[in-house]
Formats: sequence, C-alpha cells, structure tokens
Amino acid sequence: AQDIAICADCFAELSDPTDRRYQYPFINCTNCGPRFTIVKDLPYDRPMTTMVSFPMCRECEQEYHDPTSRRFHAQPNACPVCGPTIWFIDGPNSDGTIDTPGPHTPQGHLALDAFADAIHAGNIVAAKGVGGVHLACDATNRQAIATLRERKGRVEKPFAVMVSSVEQARQFAAVTEQEAVLLESKERPIVLLPKKHSTTFQAMLENVAPGNDFIGVLLPYSPLHYLLVERTSPLLLTSGNISDEPIVRTNSEAVRRLSHLADCFLLHNRDIHVVCDDSVVRCVDEGLLPIRRSRGYAPLPVRLSEDGPSVMAVGGEIKATFCVTKGTYAYLSQHIGDVGNLETLEALQRNVDHFVKLFRIDVQAVAGDLHPDNLSTRWAQQLASTWGVPFVPVQHHFAHAASLIAELAGPRDRSMIVCSFDGTGFGTDGAIWGGEFLLASRGGFERIAHLNYFPLLGGDASIRYPYRTALALLDKYALPWDERLSAVNASPPSERRLLRRQIEKGINTAQTSSMGRLFDAVASLLGIRHTITYEAQAAMELEALATTMIDHVSPSAYSFAFSSSHPRTVDYGRMLDAICSDVLDGVDQASIAAQFHHATARMVVDVCEAARRDYDVNTVGLTGGVFQNVLLLRLVQAALRTASFEVVSHTLVPPNDGGIALGQAVVARHVVE
Ligand code: ZN
Ligand code: ZN
Ligand code: FE
Repeated sequence: AQDIAICADCFAELSDPTDRRYQYPFINCTNCGPRFTIVKDLPYDRPMTTMVSFPMCRECEQEYHDPTSRRFHAQPNACPVCGPTIWFIDGPNSDGTIDTPGPHTPQGHLALDAFADAIHAGNIVAAKGVGGVHLACDATNRQAIATLRERKGRVEKPFAVMVSSVEQARQFAAVTEQEAVLLESKERPIVLLPKKHSTTFQAMLENVAPGNDFIGVLLPYSPLHYLLVERTSPLLLTSGNISDEPIVRTNSEAVRRLSHLADCFLLHNRDIHVVCDDSVVRCVDEGLLPIRRSRGYAPLPVRLSEDGPSVMAVGGEIKATFCVTKGTYAYLSQHIGDVGNLETLEALQRNVDHFVKLFRIDVQAVAGDLHPDNLSTRWAQQLASTWGVPFVPVQHHFAHAASLIAELAGPRDRSMIVCSFDGTGFGTDGAIWGGEFLLASRGGFERIAHLNYFPLLGGDASIRYPYRTALALLDKYALPWDERLSAVNASPPSERRLLRRQIEKGINTAQTSSMGRLFDAVASLLGIRHTITYEAQAAMELEALATTMIDHVSPSAYSFAFSSSHPRTVDYGRMLDAICSDVLDGVDQASIAAQFHHATARMVVDVCEAARRDYDVNTVGLTGGVFQNVLLLRLVQAALRTASFEVVSHTLVPPNDGGIALGQAVVARHVVE
C-alpha cells in the first residue's frame, strides 16, 4: 500500500505536551504513516520493513498487540524511547564520512531547532524525509533561492513550497474548495495553484516560480514535516538530486551526492527502502489531473477491465515510471527520473526487481518504446533477454492512447479517436511524431491525422531553442524571416544562413509532427520566449498569457486547414501567417496566444468530426503532455462536447510520459495473450 499522511489522532498527539510522543517526528498508527517506502518484502509485517532495526519498547509492544489500540499491528509503530532518531550536522568529515550522532550533535527537537536556525540564516539544508532527501531553504529568501538554483543548475524551473496550512497558502495563491480538499487529502500531493497578488509574498512568488502563473504548494504529510513548518514556513522543498537523477535515499548517499548542494543536513535513521518523490497534481473543473503520480498514489493499482498475463513495461525516456500487471491490476511505479544517466537506470533496475519480488510476479513479456536507439528500449530488451521473455515494442503515442483506454477500464475492443499531443515520440515511419490523431484500441491503432511535418533542426538539442522551431515553421510555408519579428532577431544572421542551409540540405534534421514544438514556435513568434531552460517552459508561459485573454478575443480569428489524404495532414501555414501579421501590427501577445488556443481547439473538433464521419466513432480521448495545458484541455473538452462527442481524459495517470508505461503494459498484454 501507499504512504499515508499523518492522521488527525496522531497529529493531536504530536502537539500534546502530556503525550509520550509529543513532538516526535516518527508518529504513526494503523491509519497513517509510511508503508511503500519502508517495505522490503511481503507479507507486510514489521520484520519485512526497515523498522526491523528498532525493537519496540514495552509500551509500544503493548499497543502493537492490542486489538483495541489505534496501533494494533501498525508496522512502523515507534516512540522516542524505542524508535528512530533525528539529528542535525553541518556536513561530512573531510574524508567524506559522516559521524553517527555524538554527544554534541543536536538531536530530537534540538535538531529541528537547528534546522530552523539554518534555514533562517539563509542556508540550504538537505533534509531526509519519508520517500527521500529534500533540499530545503527559506521560500522568502531571494538569495537562498538564487544559490540553490545556481548549485542545482536549475535556472528558472519552478519549485514547490510547503506551507503550514491552507490559510497560509491562501495568502499567496487562489485555493478553491476542491483544491483545499486535495491539499489536505491523505495523499498530500503538490497542488499547482494559481498565484494571487500578495504584497507579503510577491518576491517569493517571483523567485520560486518565475514567469509562471502557478505555484506548487503542499501541506506537511509526515509529523517531521509538521515540526519543520511549525518552526519555519513557507519552506521551499525540492527533490534532493542532481537534475533528473533519482532522489537521494540514504544518509551516506545524501552526504556524498548532495554536499555540494547543501550547507547542512537533517538526517534520521529510519531507512528508506524505496524512494518516492512528492506527487504533483492540477485541478480541472471537478476532476484531478495527475502531473506526477508518486508518493501517496504509488503503487496503488489501476484496475483493468479483465484478467491477463503479467507483463513489465518500462515506460519512456523522460519522467520514467514502469508498470507491472497481475491479474486485473496494473501497478504503476512511482516517478523514477529521466533515463539517460546511470543513476536512473540503476534506480529503475532496483525498483523493477523490488516490484517483481513484492508482487510475486511471473513476467511473461517486457514492453518498451519503439525507438531502437532509446536507452530505455535497449535496457528493456536486455531485461527481456535476461528473463527469457519476448520484448514488445509499443509506439509512443499509441502507448499514451492505451494508457487512457486502460484507465477507463472499458471493454477490450473499445476503440476511440485519440488526440495524442506531446513533444516527441518515435513514429512507425521513422519521423518524430507529436501531433497525432489515432483511431486506437488496446489491440492496435491507425494514424488518422497528424500535424504536417516540418524539419526539427538539430534534433533533440533544438528543443531548447523555440526560435529555431519558429524559423523552420516559417520556412515550411515559405513565410519570410522578417527581422521585425523577435523570433527572427533571436537568431544572428550567420546562424540564420546556417539554418537555411540545414533546411535545404536536410543536415542533422528530423521530420516532426510535434504539437509541443508548434506551441514553442508560437511562443517564440509572439516574443514570449526564444530559449528555454526546462521542458515545456515556453508552452507554459504561452498558456499563462492566453488564460488572461481567453474570454475577450474572437474564437475564430485563426484557423488550421487539413487535407483529405490518408492520414490527413493538418496545416498551420495560414495561421502562422496571420499570427505574424498580428505581431507586426502590434496586437498584444495575450490576445494572439488566446486566439491560438481557440484555433487549436477548433482544429481538434474539425478533425474529429471528419474522423467521426469516416469511422463512426463518437468518443474522443485527450492524452499526451500537451494536455497538461489546462486551458487547452478545457477548451477542447468544451468544444468537443458542444459537437456532441463523448470526451475522456486522464484522472488516474499523467497525460505526460509518466503515464505511458501503463499503456505499454496493456498493449503488451494484448500481444502475448
Ligand atoms: Zn495516525
Ligand atoms: Zn516505544
Ligand atoms: Fe509523450
């Protein structure tokens, strides 16, 4: 089972000076506390957890065996006498080792006080929690955040803040009732909340999540975190890792891998067996949109529509998660990290082995991506040959579609029109897909339409330069590289000459139908952002701007066109031309951004209506990373419903690549059945 946030009863004990667990960071009971992160094997019993090294004192033992106690068979049961301890150190010894806490090491509440003092003094502290080690600093300290960004090499990507209560969150973010419920839920995810104008917290909002309309907020989920924010909040918290590597797990790892990032360390001796990052969600109307499904949700299974063979799916290259099926359940792992570094592959291997052992799974097939050169594909093939089972390659956008179909647990042969919109995925024709309309069921798919191909200059590296995508798109439709456009100006003339030659000769150039790149290009044409420092940055800023004007512009200002070929190609030349004219005419960015969102929603409906005529299918699924854009998601949903479509989107697994392992798994099951 998953880790559950501290319950009200345990919280009462935490703050009751007469209770023997007063201010004890490791309070828990049968209803709350760590599970997934401390379990080494099943059956879920104390000797099978990392609590095995803490023999219970007499009082704890009594509670543990008393059927009337809240702590009857609470495996992580502990108290200050017998349980884990916490301590604070400045850093490792000169030889890199760390001392076990000595007589002069602040422990217990003194360690917590030392933590707060260090935070107040502007330090960055590595703090071991439930599912891993966080890096923490004062969320209101501009200098501390700047230092953290510099050390982590994380220039502008937003961080999350932990606050003491929903009331505190309301001082700087707009919190609906539904969002408040999510913040206080037992899963305690990071909820992306719209920023609110706040004089007290203006600097924090700007430094924590620059250029973003949203800020990630979470409430404390463990007694330890309550004790921390009681002393200092809002607290900036981020995964203790080097970018895209898995979160750090052990004390020695923390000191080894984080000493160049952190000034001091808050450590404890309850071992984390399985790392689990914080989850991230957004609220859409009445539903939940998972962005990162991890602590609190993993490894809760997704219920499948029917029984089938056990398979292991390893997911994609970024935001890697994996998925194993057993019977009618699919167990989707916690967030692991971006494959591409050794640490992530090691973490994948370790967690895959753990899941197979934990759930007693006899794997019949391994699924992975279709791209033959992907690290994750090669790793999956190796895994399959080690286990002596077949490897099933699954096309990326089909995997997105299948993840949505699996989530709905509908009948097996149900097919639907799926808009699978994202940044990058290897297509069956060798091109980079990303703006795909598929007719899909678990058994297979047909590509019914896609964004017209354009050259992706310089392959993956070009993703960091939206202006280059903008230039490629203009060139595609023979639109001039007008120097009055800032997207054109972002490219020095010498580079432009090179790009032009690259396009003509097709050097180091891939053909792509990526919707994500189209959003990037539009952001650059509007002058919003020409280079990015983290994934989807330009698209997020475009969404933020568009949101401000969405109800004040003409929904039909721009339009796409599409062909009658098979598959249909969706053309955006006329729209780009109109956008460029508006930019040159001085129309404000937000209006253009809003009109572009309207046009995209209209295009989806048009293509789906054509597909409905061709295939007599009335359900449309929305998936892929582009649908993390809540403005677009809402517009598309509304427009499709107006056109009498049944619309489905994700509520259990992320629309981004964090969800594709589930899709790969159900497709592979279908294949080996
Ligand atoms: Zn409890
Ligand atoms: Zn005890
Ligand atoms: Fe994707």
